[in-house]
Amino acid sequence: MRLTTSLESVKGVGEKTAEQFAAANLHTVGDLLYFFPRKHEDFSEVTPIGDITPGKRTIKARCESISTRHVRRGMAITTATLADESGKLQAVWFNQAYRTAQFKDPKQEFYFSGEFEFSYNRHQLTNPSAEKVSDMPVQTDRLLPIYPAIKGLKSQLVRKILSELRPLMTMLPDPLPEDIVRTNQLASINDALLGMHFPTNTSEINIARQRLGFDELFYLVLAAQLNKQANAKLEGWHIPFEQTTVQTFVKVLPFELTPAQKQAAWDILQDFEKETPMNRLLQGDVGAGKTVVAGLAARQAASHGFQSAILAPTEILASQHAETLSRLLTPFNVSVALLTGSVKSKARVELLAALKRGDIDIIVGTHALLQPPVQFHKLGFVVIDEQHRFGVEQRQKLLEKSERMPHLLAMTATPIPRSLALTLYGELDVSIIKQKPKNRQPIQTKIWAPTSRKALYETIDSEIATGRQVYIVCKLIDNNPMNDTKSVELEYRNLKNSVFSHRRIGLLHGRMKPAEKESVMKDFAEGKLDILVSTTVVEVGVDVPNATVMLIEDADQYGLSQLHQLRGRVGRSEHKSYCYLLTSDSKKPSQRLREVEKSNDGFYLAEVDLKLRGPGEIYGRAQHGELNLQIASLADAELIVKASKAAQDFIASGASLLQYKELAKQVEYYQRVTTLN
Ligand code: ADP
Ligand code: MG
Repeated sequence: MRLTTSLESVKGVGEKTAEQFAAANLHTVGDLLYFFPRKHEDFSEVTPIGDITPGKRTIKARCESISTRHVRRGMAITTATLADESGKLQAVWFNQAYRTAQFKDPKQEFYFSGEFEFSYNRHQLTNPSAEKVSDMPVQTDRLLPIYPAIKGLKSQLVRKILSELRPLMTMLPDPLPEDIVRTNQLASINDALLGMHFPTNTSEINIARQRLGFDELFYLVLAAQLNKQANAKLEGWHIPFEQTTVQTFVKVLPFELTPAQKQAAWDILQDFEKETPMNRLLQGDVGAGKTVVAGLAARQAASHGFQSAILAPTEILASQHAETLSRLLTPFNVSVALLTGSVKSKARVELLAALKRGDIDIIVGTHALLQPPVQFHKLGFVVIDEQHRFGVEQRQKLLEKSERMPHLLAMTATPIPRSLALTLYGELDVSIIKQKPKNRQPIQTKIWAPTSRKALYETIDSEIATGRQVYIVCKLIDNNPMNDTKSVELEYRNLKNSVFSHRRIGLLHGRMKPAEKESVMKDFAEGKLDILVSTTVVEVGVDVPNATVMLIEDADQYGLSQLHQLRGRVGRSEHKSYCYLLTSDSKKPSQRLREVEKSNDGFYLAEVDLKLRGPGEIYGRAQHGELNLQIASLADAELIVKASKAAQDFIASGASLLQYKELAKQVEYYQRVTTLN
């Protein structure tokens, strides 16, 4: 048996099981060996119910009775009486109604593991996890690996199949060069795999995680470095720098560029002159003014007969960019066009022909730009706005539309923490716009409990009275009777018919027709609406400087960086702006919300986000899902440094990947996911 052996040939895997594995992207024995537990549940210390004290506890008990009731805001509360020989206690689960069926057999014994605490006036075990005692493997000291769910497969079966593979784990050759394992004091790959799948104590798990996390980061850095080398060998378009083109452009701007914008533009124009294609990431917090920098560069390209393509993640954003750029560039005879899915067939045919003839200098669009009929005359410059929204393959498609590799600028407002930027994007050059334009005042952020809703609406109304505009963001499109989370449609009607009946209100969500979306967005941008009730479709990029209030309903249901992105829709002019985070209940706000309330700094928040998620998500997929890190925590700066150094030493030593077959395969995989071209 080898890593490449198909799972179907493993004992215990039938055709059906193999299909279920395949649906989870697990095809070979190697895939399964590297399919790691989400976490390990420690059932080693069982407390008799009679002796239980508050804290994280495991009990071995039967479920005597269980019932679920549905309460306000669609919450389901399941309570059960659990019993062993020494006593009884109450367990409670929130929104896990399926537990009722799971524990319906009063004779079945389970391990329950959770926090035993005093709440709602009694002691109870809160949201315990549970495993059938009869399912527990015998030899693991009850340190049970919990695998990510695979549709249709019992976790018990996954464990059983892995135990078939155990002998292979013990003799697998190490993919890393021996001296790297030695100098970095890493566990062998064999111990690491056994430690993940069959740990006998927690220290084995930690050692395994160190080793496997190191591997992931090592591959990643090595791949990024190799990409950089490969990129340096490509021939790009030479686009000469011309001072006058820049000067005339800067002159017509309604504002002065910030020093950071000038620097970024300078970086790009310098890259345009080089022999090799640019590969640059333009990072700048929301509202920092990235679009105009891209516009300046596109103008330079156009003046030398090169076309530019600007790829945006949503139609709203694409049409906004097209509008901004044509306003800025039409005076210079630079033609700008918009291509989205909603451009109708006849207009589309004409547009595509013009593009191919070279009559269009800049084309802005959504995914529609990636389709095969879209052909260029001479594509010299590609801008990808909010780059993380596009997959690698999609970017590749666009880049293939040019004879030579075009210059590439990826713009993102997702501040990648400094500690990571180098590792994740080691192949890229990075420009950072740190300062915001001078005219900005800091956004004032405040958490509100739902009980203060009335006062909040009054505050908002007086802001509208001064001529400003307001976003109200809700999580859902439709109203779900089982759920109290605000839906845009309902909220829109409510507000329109009550508190804000005297104001002009618009509705925006992703399921509306593109033309409807565009017209609402246009009305809002032109000040014809006071309030825009929207889903998170406004999250990326939308720019309406007169909007100064962002109200986020059910704010506790969003991630930290998403809140920061949404907040970035306001604070885009000289007017003072406000962000109100409405919580869905009156409980103490989470640390996440408090951090957003405290800080306006996207970089700081990104670091906090990493730390907050860190421990909780230790076993989860890293947030940069595309990178496919299973184990390595991006918060582990020490390991990142160690792995980077090893990768650099490896390259410097002149070692050839050809010698290390398994390593080469891994690196090749990471090369595909990390490259932008
Ligand atoms: P982002 O970096 O989030 O993409 P945008 O490019 O949308 O930001 O710019 C945000 C707003 O700031 C726009 O209305 C833009 O016209 C304006 N802006 C850009 N640069 C400056 C500047 N130097 N001074 C004043 N306003 C600026
Ligand atoms: Mg933008």
